[in-house]
Amino acid sequence: MLERFPIVMAAVAYEGDVPVLAKWLARGGISPSRERRDRDGFPLVGAGGAITYINPLSLAGVCDFIVLGDGLPVLPHIVDTLRSAGGRSETLKKLAEHPSILIPALHLDGHARLEVSKRADLSDDFGHGNWIAPMSAFGDTLLVELQRGCERGCGFCVLPSCFAPLRRRRSDVVSGDVKNVSERVEFAQVGLVTPEAGDYPRLDRLLEDVEFLGKGVSFASLRVDGLTRNVVKALARGGRHSLTIAPETGDDEFRASCGKRFTNDRIIDALAMAKEEGIAKVKLYFMIGLPGESDGEILSIAALCGRIRRETGLRLTATVSPFIPKPGAAWQCESFTGERELKAKLALLRSSAGGIPGVSIQNASVKEASLEYALSWASLDTSKKIAEAAEYSVSIKIKSAFVDRDAATRELSSLGLFTK
Ligand code: SF4
Repeated sequence: MLERFPIVMAAVAYEGDVPVLAKWLARGGISPSRERRDRDGFPLVGAGGAITYINPLSLAGVCDFIVLGDGLPVLPHIVDTLRSAGGRSETLKKLAEHPSILIPALHLDGHARLEVSKRADLSDDFGHGNWIAPMSAFGDTLLVELQRGCERGCGFCVLPSCFAPLRRRRSDVVSGDVKNVSERVEFAQVGLVTPEAGDYPRLDRLLEDVEFLGKGVSFASLRVDGLTRNVVKALARGGRHSLTIAPETGDDEFRASCGKRFTNDRIIDALAMAKEEGIAKVKLYFMIGLPGESDGEILSIAALCGRIRRETGLRLTATVSPFIPKPGAAWQCESFTGERELKAKLALLRSSAGGIPGVSIQNASVKEASLEYALSWASLDTSKKIAEAAEYSVSIKIKSAFVDRDAATRELSSLGLFTK
């Protein structure tokens, strides 16, 4: 009975979830097309989330309002408006008074100046990024946010620009939150949500506090140059026998050109130390289709996997994803490698690394990567296609060769949102 709710809102973390949101609305009896819903009596559909920092336009054909950036400072205006306003159009006009709320029906005429909301201080009393969702993939892990943004400069990454400035929660506030939650709710471990845990200044102190509470700890991915013995010990104490790092490529020089200045030798040393501390398995993230890449760089991935296996004895999974040039990233103007070429690169990698005992290769779907590329450069027109496809229960198909980056750039610039 989703259609009986007057307001439906979603947090959208990644481009591929926009078609999911549209389907979800259609299955709930709500037209996923904003224009078809454009009359009183239907729910208002709103969204926010991580993709709104990069390009919110993929939501513009589906949602009536889109919260740009950090949602908490915008919520009071949304709540006041929804409580006090009358009909649909009056509500949308009032919502549009906030500079961080995009109303596609009112703003896409080329005269709006919007801004992505950014809280200056993530330790303030506005709210806390602490989550336990037992039915989700994270199970009984308390997810705690440490940091937004990153001050390193990897060319393929949107974090240094779209999520700037770098903001961190104070470690005493984080420790206090973990303690408070542990007094009220059962959970086994703390998942630290941050781009680069090793860059968090008081990480050791925080790990001690978590240990004092008898909880384990997990990290999404660890930067090799931040992989200290203390961090690995904290993982092992929580009963974890695997860790994740992102070398991106197996070639030192090529890695440095991507913005990651650690060497294969450093990776081997760090993983050998992890093995001593009880880690048995490592997951490595690699990218293919990077600017300037040749077959040599693909083969370097296989060579690094073989070396890790030989010199550390760790079992390893290499997860390989295509490079997607996204708006705001330093490499936003680089090309997206087409599906056929990506498949050939994957075949080369599999033929060179697939037979190494103890090494397994997983790759993201090339088709999905192609769709992610198209959606990351979505214009209003793309979003209308997403809504149409969901309305008629067909899959959305956008060929990467037809992605119109100029259209998205024009529309984002006209809203004051394009990040150079
Ligand atoms: S890839 Fe990691 S280290 Fe590089 S900029 Fe992005 S978050 Fe920072």
